[in-house]
Amino acid sequence: MEKHSAGVLYVVATPIGNLEDLSPRACRILAEVQLIAAEDTRHTGSLLAHFGIRTPLLSLHEHNEARRTSRLVERLQAGESVALVSDAGTPLISDPGFDLVRAACAAGVTVTPIPGPSALIAALSVSGLPTDRFVFEGFLPAKSAARRARLETLATDTRTLVFYEAVHRLKDSLADMAQVFGEERAAVVARELTKLHETLSRGTLAGLVAAFDKNNDELKGEVVVLVAGAPAAQSGAANIEAERLLRILLEELPVKQAASLAARISGGKKNQLYAKAIEIAGRK
Ligand code: SAM
Repeated sequence: MEKHSAGVLYVVATPIGNLEDLSPRACRILAEVQLIAAEDTRHTGSLLAHFGIRTPLLSLHEHNEARRTSRLVERLQAGESVALVSDAGTPLISDPGFDLVRAACAAGVTVTPIPGPSALIAALSVSGLPTDRFVFEGFLPAKSAARRARLETLATDTRTLVFYEAVHRLKDSLADMAQVFGEERAAVVARELTKLHETLSRGTLAGLVAAFDKNNDELKGEVVVLVAGAPAAQSGAANIEAERLLRILLEELPVKQAASLAARISGGKKNQLYAKAIEIAGRK
């Protein structure tokens, strides 16, 4: 038994598609606590019904979290235990819960994880991309200009990049990634993990754009996009940085001026940057 005299806030991971992934411990905690704070009470209600759990639910989503937090902390301090869940996976990972966890920590309440599924770790573990160092970027901006600006900041990062993405933006995002990271960069799209139509698509960014162009059936469900880090050893971080600079300058300047300025700023070779600038401008 995990009884505490003061209340405990349990941060409970729930399945990302397959109900068998709810751990026995998660199931027991959800049954034992006085209250479950849930992102969507109807959604969590179905999960609880499946497991025969009757614990009262309270909604806690991005629009009411700030308002609900202080009352929840009071209840925890008064000795009630609360489980925090989101619709799927681990709360706080691109999901609500941060305000509550931060306030509970500040109030000296015990916060305990009940670990389990998260799409980001599930996708990374089967991607075949390096897992020793990775960066989770959550959702990219929806608009292309802002998305590309974000991607530019990641262009020379040598760690594996992990993104959540809405499936209706998948093709546009992959196309932007191909343009910013280079068409040949390796990437993986992990779709519908743990569900009936689980699919792992691996290839280059250009190859994935072409594959999803051809196969619209795969543009359904939920996806995680993973991109190999920049190949530091192969081309040298300095070259990648110069190329990134060149791409930015080419958005505002003609080829010759952009190459000349990029060479002055980066210390790179002008003729090489000029050739690269022609190549980039030709692809636009
Ligand atoms: N908290 C969740 C977690 O721990 O994975 C993530 C919630 S976030 C609002 C939802 C996003 O997670 C989806 O848009 C998708 O990118 C990813 N996702 C969730 N379930 C997935 C699944 N079964 N397969 C692939 N991606 C999934």
